[in-house]
Amino acid sequence: MRSADLLILGAAQVVTVDGGRATTKRGAREMNDLRVIEDGAIAVKRGRVADVGTTNEILQRWRGYQRLHCRGRAVLPGFVDAHTHPVFAKTRDDEFALRCRGADYEEILAAGGGIHASARALRSRSVSELARDVRTRFDGMLRHGTVAVEAKSGYGLTTASELASLKAIRSAAAKHPIHAVRTFLGAHVVPQEYAGNRKAYVDLVVEDMLPRVAKQKLAAFCDVFVEKGAFRVAEARRILRAAKRLGMRPKVHADQFRDSGGARLAAELRAASVEHVDATKRAGMRALAKARVVPVLLPSASLFTHLRHVPNARALIEEGCAVALATDFNPGTSPTENLQLVASLGCTLLGMTPEEVVTAITRNAAAACGLEDSHGRIAVGRPAHLVVLDAPSYVHIPYRMGTNLVHQVLVNGRVVVDEGRIVD
Ligand SMILES: [Zn+2]
Repeated sequence: MRSADLLILGAAQVVTVDGGRATTKRGAREMNDLRVIEDGAIAVKRGRVADVGTTNEILQRWRGYQRLHCRGRAVLPGFVDAHTHPVFAKTRDDEFALRCRGADYEEILAAGGGIHASARALRSRSVSELARDVRTRFDGMLRHGTVAVEAKSGYGLTTASELASLKAIRSAAAKHPIHAVRTFLGAHVVPQEYAGNRKAYVDLVVEDMLPRVAKQKLAAFCDVFVEKGAFRVAEARRILRAAKRLGMRPKVHADQFRDSGGARLAAELRAASVEHVDATKRAGMRALAKARVVPVLLPSASLFTHLRHVPNARALIEEGCAVALATDFNPGTSPTENLQLVASLGCTLLGMTPEEVVTAITRNAAAACGLEDSHGRIAVGRPAHLVVLDAPSYVHIPYRMGTNLVHQVLVNGRVVVDEGRIVD
């Protein structure tokens, strides 16, 4: 008998999302293979998974100082939210009301609303004020089972406010159970004061913002919004190449409203991920699969903007992509921190299976933000980041549409959410 710090016993299912040597699960066969252990158990030692098996097997091999009885609940890897914009100063409920009365998102953006409105509000805030709000948003995510989050800047659009946004994410995550991966998105849109001179703004991003972000080690990734009304492919290529030279990995917001070549650019630059891809055509999808770029789909943003554009998840999976799902948490087009709801929309709007959506918010999402070694699956030797559901099966995640099923969250083997509340 070996001794563990904690034994998690009697789970109706331990959904490991393990198996295979690759960092992701690609295509339908792999994405549907969750490696579920019925009546499962986990031994945890020094914050890491020491063993996984049936409850009988674990009790035969291990004794534990502490026991956590799941009483028929399902245990999954902690969720990873691979695309969020948590640094903003003001909600956009006014714009939502306008859209409900028929206004169009791109028209609102062109009229100085949308991202421009967020930028005006953010620039007057200090790092500590921004960090306080980000921490509150991280609390909400954690209560919904998210243990790691990719968090972008991009609502400042000046050097000072972009740096402040990244520092706010760093500060909010410092004493928080959530692990945050920072992405610099200075090229979110061209700010209004540069409307007549886009080249000057791209110069500012490349020559001023990027070197400072790199020098202060403020971001692991650099993202660009490629779209009519935002940045062109050639501008994005210049920004992302400069970021790569400074050690940041590229990400691309691509083809949200039309196929403007963003997905092909992501493949060309071997980006870690490409986000939205609502309007990407087959050739772009094939390029993504070949270059092993993870498409991060954001169906709650599609739903919230009245379903004008919905990504073709089935075609992406058919082409052999490792699809991930994320909330796109932001004040304009997706103000939800609930990845379980997004998983549900993956099934109902995008035609994915319950197994595929679970893979998409765990293992594939972890790979999309460079966390493939620490997050996204339950396996021996890995940190014990776990979610205990108040339900007997992972199928309840998409099935219970919008309900928060999280009973407990464990980070490094320690309970950080218990019965829906954050434990200090
Ligand atoms: Zn986004």
